[in-house]
Amino acid sequence: MSDFPNCPKCHSEYTYEDGNLFVCPECAYEWTLESVTESSEDKKIVKDANGNVLNDGDSVTVIKDLKVKGSSSVLKIGTKIKNIRLVDGDHNIDCKIDGFGAMKLKSEFVKKV
Ligand SMILES: [Zn+2]
Repeated sequence: MSDFPNCPKCHSEYTYEDGNLFVCPECAYEWTLESVTESSEDKKIVKDANGNVLNDGDSVTVIKDLKVKGSSSVLKIGTKIKNIRLVDGDHNIDCKIDGFGAMKLKSEFVKKV
């Protein structure tokens, strides 16, 4: 049994290794393993209060009353937030909330809807 990958072009199993290249004898395609393995981009995983993974565009609700920085308003528990965007940093959710405008939240204070 060989553990060489199948040809990405013609899916032939009869591939062989040549240095750091893989070669397909059927269609003469040559490639390196890096180009087929999924690039392990360090995509940050952001999780909500329940440990569910959040993605851009998700809707969440606030799980506790949150003071809004720079104002006397409070973001009430249960407030629904649509279309979140994940960002880097301590406050890792970028969002727009009706009546509040654009703000940043911590993922630990929300849960996915
Ligand atoms: Zn091939």
